[in-house]
Amino acid sequence: MPAEKMLSIAFEKNPSPASAEQRNTILQNPGFGKKFTDHMLLIRYSEEKGWHDAHIKPYGNISLDPALCVFHYAQEIFEGLKAYKAKDGRILLFRPEANAKRFINSAKRMAMAPLPEEMFLQAIHEFVKVEKDWLPDQSVGTLYLRPFMIASTPYLGVKASPDYLFMLIASPAGSYFSKGAKPVTVWISEFYTRAASGGTGEAKCGGNYAASLIAQQEATQNNCDQLVFLDAAEHKWIEEMGGMNIFFVLDDGSLLTPPLGGTILPGVTRNSIITMAKEKGITVREELYAAEQWIKDIQSGKVREVFACGTAAVVSPIGFVKTKHGEYQINDGNPGKLTQEIHKALVDIQYGNAPDIHNWVQEV
Ligand code: PMP
Repeated sequence: MPAEKMLSIAFEKNPSPASAEQRNTILQNPGFGKKFTDHMLLIRYSEEKGWHDAHIKPYGNISLDPALCVFHYAQEIFEGLKAYKAKDGRILLFRPEANAKRFINSAKRMAMAPLPEEMFLQAIHEFVKVEKDWLPDQSVGTLYLRPFMIASTPYLGVKASPDYLFMLIASPAGSYFSKGAKPVTVWISEFYTRAASGGTGEAKCGGNYAASLIAQQEATQNNCDQLVFLDAAEHKWIEEMGGMNIFFVLDDGSLLTPPLGGTILPGVTRNSIITMAKEKGITVREELYAAEQWIKDIQSGKVREVFACGTAAVVSPIGFVKTKHGEYQINDGNPGKLTQEIHKALVDIQYGNAPDIHNWVQEV
């Protein structure tokens, strides 16, 4: 790695970390996103100094000027990835360079300073090393990593901030599938949309998620677990879920998924599934698919399986679809064979239980 792309990361050890007993209690039943490790990592950016002041310090509150741009105009981006504990105790990361690249693309879209890929990876590796005791066993889950960046200049004018604060926190996470792959019911959002052409759909910025919450509430009110967004122009074409991409298994054995056209998030899981399916000889079609056609194809039996995918849940089977007109069961409503095979194939690579033929796994 070129020296100018490396950071010197200072370390201030937490003087009162969680006790081994407290940590083990959390690691046995971590849930998702509520418990955090003992430390956090920060890096500052300014136009004069570039990236500087990288340090790991005790996890805790930070003091911020209320005039910071981020609080007013939402210049904020984030990522989500995981560290996995292999059976032999090695700590593994899955395609972290893909998250680093997407973080750069998100930064560019939001007119923020892009954190170089090498620095992103160095921050992840060094931080996970510090928090290595916080990895749950593979029967329980993973250590979820949340890098994010905010505009940190105190200024009320509407313009790109000259200063940024990058941070990294970590949260032990239980496996979504610890109680079995329970199929979810999804709501088709016919009124609210997520992203328009030319907008921020392919950036992982907080604003996209703020705008999606009311649609998620609508889904919950209709007794659905998750929601499917349609395109903003015609409210016709399936795009993605609130926090996952979507795949359909058709009766000819092919896989169909909406194409990346700037309005959906280019998922690392989506890309990995496409690669692995093609290698297995499965035809993968990245094509527009209308919600109305989807319902017809469920009724005729042409759609055999549907699943959502993303870092948090890996692969989540979809058993039922609801709209204001009715509820439709996909096949027998149970997780399909290909859905389960794809899920297992991915998880096996992530935890180091299968050969890593793609060089997707990095050891910490
Ligand atoms: N779409 C959205 C809107 C998401 O938030 C996520 C989660 N990052 C995904 C798709 C899946 O992306 P990945 O596979 O990289 O987690």
